[in-house]
Amino acid sequence: MTLAKLDLAAEVDKIFADLGVASDKYRGGTLTVRSPISGTEIGKLPEISATEAKKAIDAAHEAFLEWRLVPAPKRGELIRLLGEELRAGKAALGRLVSIEVGKVTSEGLGEVQEMIDICDFAVGLSRQLYGLTIATERSEHRMMETWHPLGAIGIISAFNFPVAVWSWNAALAIVCGNSTIWKPSEKTPLTALATQAIFDKALARYNADGGKAPKNLSTLLIGGREIGEVMVDHEKVPLVSATGSTRMGREVGPKLAQRFARSILELGGNNAAIVTPTADLDLTLRGVAFSAMGTAGQRCTTLRRLFVHDSVYDALVPRLSKAYQSVTIGSPLTDGNLVGPLIDKQAFDKMQAALDAAKAAGGTVVGGERVLDGEAADAYYVRPAIVEMPAQTGPVKDETFAPILYVMKYSTFDEALALHNDVPQGLSSSIFTNDMREAETFVSARGSDCGIANVNIGPSGAEIGGAFGGEKETGGGRESGSDAWRAYMRRATNTLNYGRTLPLAQGVKFDI
Ligand code: NAD
Repeated sequence: MTLAKLDLAAEVDKIFADLGVASDKYRGGTLTVRSPISGTEIGKLPEISATEAKKAIDAAHEAFLEWRLVPAPKRGELIRLLGEELRAGKAALGRLVSIEVGKVTSEGLGEVQEMIDICDFAVGLSRQLYGLTIATERSEHRMMETWHPLGAIGIISAFNFPVAVWSWNAALAIVCGNSTIWKPSEKTPLTALATQAIFDKALARYNADGGKAPKNLSTLLIGGREIGEVMVDHEKVPLVSATGSTRMGREVGPKLAQRFARSILELGGNNAAIVTPTADLDLTLRGVAFSAMGTAGQRCTTLRRLFVHDSVYDALVPRLSKAYQSVTIGSPLTDGNLVGPLIDKQAFDKMQAALDAAKAAGGTVVGGERVLDGEAADAYYVRPAIVEMPAQTGPVKDETFAPILYVMKYSTFDEALALHNDVPQGLSSSIFTNDMREAETFVSARGSDCGIANVNIGPSGAEIGGAFGGEKETGGGRESGSDAWRAYMRRATNTLNYGRTLPLAQGVKFDI
């Protein structure tokens, strides 16, 4: 069947019918959603107005005031149920991710698996929101640290991880005693609607079992960036976790700082890998191919710059070029296809502009051309492009959200490291080496300056157990694993006097 003949709107209807979502939630509205698979319309959602959004945020704040009183392990039970509902809905939600974003089937399902994983993590965390007991210099005193819920947490998400990013934030925020308000990408509201329906099921089960979860614990705001702005400006939102482009972060960050609200900024990356003389080239080839071409180059962690030592350049780069020419491109719903479509025409135009700029800067381009346009004129499939560059110039220092891999030669390790770090972004990075000194240096203080630095693994595809995020123009935020939960709570230091005297700190005297 050709792409244009796929009846994706009917599939969407079936998924929402199974989830019990009424069709007026995604038909007859003003926000048009097209599937990148075929370019055809699959939804028209009603959008919330700014006034309604403000009211919804007030209601989320009220929900927070109730939820913060529920003991944390009991809050964890709600997230345990959410994990169960996500397991039950994995196939349907994963399929919807593929339909709305164009991810190949295993990646659509993988995104939902990531949601399940973070729920499991958050359930354990709900019994581990530890503070410290701290030695005090005053006798008959105790000093301790307590962690308290923060408020109604804003979540702004990007199109390319339309649901996982919500769960990374929401699962932690909710066990930490907060309510959440979510403004998904205007390109992917259908998966957000489905996720909210799955959350609502978990909440109904929780309350049927005697739980006390307020109904506005998780709020979904469908709309454009102006609705995100309402959240950013609202005084009752003490933290906004915003994932998207560096341009967005530059607008959102200063506004939050202006009103002393917190931010978690998860912005653009320009991720690199270094291939050294001792690298296992078979493993490198696979690691590079997945990281650079997977998700059609539309991951924040996509590999975009490759520095190859001149002694292995000729053994690796021609093989890589061959892999680029033979990779299977097509409908992400068809088994065996590894590269699906770009999200839209704008992404395609930006890719072509970057390739033109690379050529002008002396680059040699293989791939990058549009394919399958005869099957679906409004869908944008491309052959991933591999570009040999004479130096790190032209568009190489920018993030172009498309499958373009710039390849450059180096001769000394220090030169490679300097080039690696010489970009404004700092998200993810890798080195392929079997030299222990190079591997250790890469992850040391003078090595990669990114939030994620890997050895013998590509930069793309993180696990939820680690804190996720990056430095420099990537925004500095961390979410998901490790101690990222602390960002969603406020810390208090408490000193308790159980004696009958009042010694002052630092020996200060004040006798009246
Ligand atoms: P985008 O910046 O266009 O939009 C992201 C979200 O921000 C959307 O929901 C949008 O409505 C909202 N938004 C935009 N301007 C806003 C404003 N002024 N105020 C409030 N909200 C605003 O990004 P995109 O095209 O959807 O996603 C791709 C980008 O996201 C890439 O740069 C990618 O690297 C980045 N990304 C980063 C991470 C990460 O964890 N670092 C993860 C995924 C994507």
